Amino acid sequence: MKSKKINALVLFSGGLDSMLAAKILEAQGIAAVLICFESYFFSCAAARDSAAAIGMKLRVEDISRPHLEIVRNPAHGYGGAINPCIDCHLLMLKTAKAIMDKEGFDFVATGEVLGERPMSQNRQSLDTVERESGLSGILLRPLSAKLLPETLAEKNGLVDRGKLCDISGRSRKVQMDLAREFGITRVPQPGGGCILTETDYGQRLKKLISIKPDFDGSDAEVLQHCRPIWEGNVLFAVARNQADCAALKGPAKPGDFLFEPQNFPGPVVLARNFGAEAGQEEIEPLGKKYLLQYSKKPPRNPEISILKM
Ligand code: SF4
Repeated sequence: MKSKKINALVLFSGGLDSMLAAKILEAQGIAAVLICFESYFFSCAAARDSAAAIGMKLRVEDISRPHLEIVRNPAHGYGGAINPCIDCHLLMLKTAKAIMDKEGFDFVATGEVLGERPMSQNRQSLDTVERESGLSGILLRPLSAKLLPETLAEKNGLVDRGKLCDISGRSRKVQMDLAREFGITRVPQPGGGCILTETDYGQRLKKLISIKPDFDGSDAEVLQHCRPIWEGNVLFAVARNQADCAALKGPAKPGDFLFEPQNFPGPVVLARNFGAEAGQEEIEPLGKKYLLQYSKKPPRNPEISILKM
């Protein structure tokens, strides 16, 4: 009789640890489905490259809306910048659990390593997210499994505990050895986290929250692609380069003003009014002023188009 294939859902960031977790399970004959999450603050670009590098398929889930909620109001608070890492991690695990329950996966796995990140991967944090995500006993961490309590999948013989690892700490030596064993030649550099961990972006978003606590995804995106200048409750988002110019046109929404130079090179400026007090007659001269201020050599008679969205 043909035995049932074991199916695992593997949270996949695209980092080396998650690549190894997937390969360790695959080496046991387990069908590992890689899952990556996208939001307004991070994409699956690195995960796509890493999945392709190890010849495995990647499933992408958009968690933008619930993730925005936790950035606005994280139950476990922020890390060093405006990164709600505990709640973000919980959201990913809860989403994975919902998919597991709905689609009949046998367990969920991650590439977490005990003690690799002092705050989020110590024993207490691992236990907390496992419990709060509803994955107690069904969350397998193949890289550190032998240092952690046996999961149901191991107890029930779905996974051979003897072939799992006992890695802990910040050294990547064992991971590099494993990468060689699995023939992984493209080893990504360890990542520092998403844009929410960046101090500068954290300050931008905190300023926005002080003005508009229920900011939306478009507001968060605009702040990623500009030099922000605040005039009261009006944001003048000045593009810093060509990529910003293109990106600022994407999230423009009704009520915005888009300033664009016509007869000279210069930045696109997006003006977004978060209050009621500033009118068009005040916003227009300021938008033109900042556009000219950040243009290298504006002509004597600059032509600037103003589009009211
Ligand atoms: S660094 Fe960003 S993506 Fe990673 S857990 Fe923290 S908030 Fe989430």
